[in-house]
Amino acid sequence: MKPGIVKAGKWLLNALLPRTCAHCALDLHYLEEAPLCPGCRAGLEPLSQPYCARCGLPLQDGGRDCYDCRGSGGPRALALARSAFVFNAQLRSAVHAFKYRGRKDLSVFLSREMARELERFPELSAYKFIVAVPLHPAKLRERGFNQAELLAGGLAPAAGLFHLEGAAARLRDTRSQTTLSKAERRANMAGAFGAAKPELVKGRSILLVDDVATTLATLEALAAALKNAGAKAVAAYTLAREP
Ligand SMILES: [Zn+2]
Ligand SMILES: [Zn+2]
Repeated sequence: MKPGIVKAGKWLLNALLPRTCAHCALDLHYLEEAPLCPGCRAGLEPLSQPYCARCGLPLQDGGRDCYDCRGSGGPRALALARSAFVFNAQLRSAVHAFKYRGRKDLSVFLSREMARELERFPELSAYKFIVAVPLHPAKLRERGFNQAELLAGGLAPAAGLFHLEGAAARLRDTRSQTTLSKAERRANMAGAFGAAKPELVKGRSILLVDDVATTLATLEALAAALKNAGAKAVAAYTLAREP
């Protein structure tokens, strides 16, 4: 299609269905592809130093590793975790629209932002194969799409990585983690994942992709399953990190 026609189509669509910023509800320009207005977009905060060298947790007072990673509470199967952004109010609104208001299209904007921020982490450059954190089939039916799979699908071509679709599966539908302690979350997630196609991960350095990381219990459980299936090393990269 000619660019002029696409532009006219966007203008018309916007006139019929005006789009608003997912955070402040300001009207968006009809050519704006982001879910956020320029002001809210400028409010996205790349997760910057200091953060834990191992698990990527933002650190208040500097130092190399967080409290958990200095002791025995840090990740074991997961070699490294990094996140593109702090999970602040602007990003929270965008992620909420993406996941819970069916704005599948926002994966294009969000995965492009992830690809750009990935360049800040040369320590992840050896991980060339992406596996998205899988949803349980019941959850997938309910939501209609897996947000991590969409982010992985956008990130892979933009960052020169290979997306291993369907490599992992969620075996158990785990209960909501929000009220659980760190130790309970880990126990809750144990055995939740399996390698659906072990031949895809064997001997490879795998980068797990998800939208928001909190305690890393989910990523750690998936990393353990892929290591069991023969993955050489497993790291994780998420859109956001919630301390
Ligand atoms: Zn806004
Ligand atoms: Zn740490």
